[in-house]
Amino acid sequence: MKRKPMRILPEALKQLFKKPATSKYPFEKAKLYAGYRARINFEVEKCIGCKMCMRVCPSKAIEIIPAENQPQPQIGPDGKPMPVKKIFNCIMNLDRCIYCAQCVEICPKKALAYTQDFELAQIEKKKLRLHYKN
Ligand code: SF4
Ligand code: SF4
Repeated sequence: MKRKPMRILPEALKQLFKKPATSKYPFEKAKLYAGYRARINFEVEKCIGCKMCMRVCPSKAIEIIPAENQPQPQIGPDGKPMPVKKIFNCIMNLDRCIYCAQCVEICPKKALAYTQDFELAQIEKKKLRLHYKN
């Protein structure tokens, strides 16, 4: 088959003067769409330790553990210890997370939320293990 290289010339010229489809990240700030899912955030005060997030996570990226510093029970007016809300911390393994946000959807207390913090690359593997604590 005989090739006709000049046939692509008009298209090549057209593309030459068109606005680039790619962005200049990292030289320019990345433009993220609304609802873009990146690092999952955890709020200690809201968590009740039900571990539904752990059960639903397809890649076992999230761990909910009792906090080391638990509040001491206060003595009530009747002289008995008052009930204390147990505190939970969260370990998020960024190298396992696939940002599906199923944990966010299922959390009954909205203790988990996705952020737009996507620049998560690390040289040391241990830095991919985030410990959200009180
Ligand atoms: S689902 Fe929400 S409240 Fe339950 S353990 Fe996970 S973060 Fe805590
Ligand atoms: S976003 Fe998905 S993969 Fe990441 S911790 Fe939540 S459920 Fe697991």
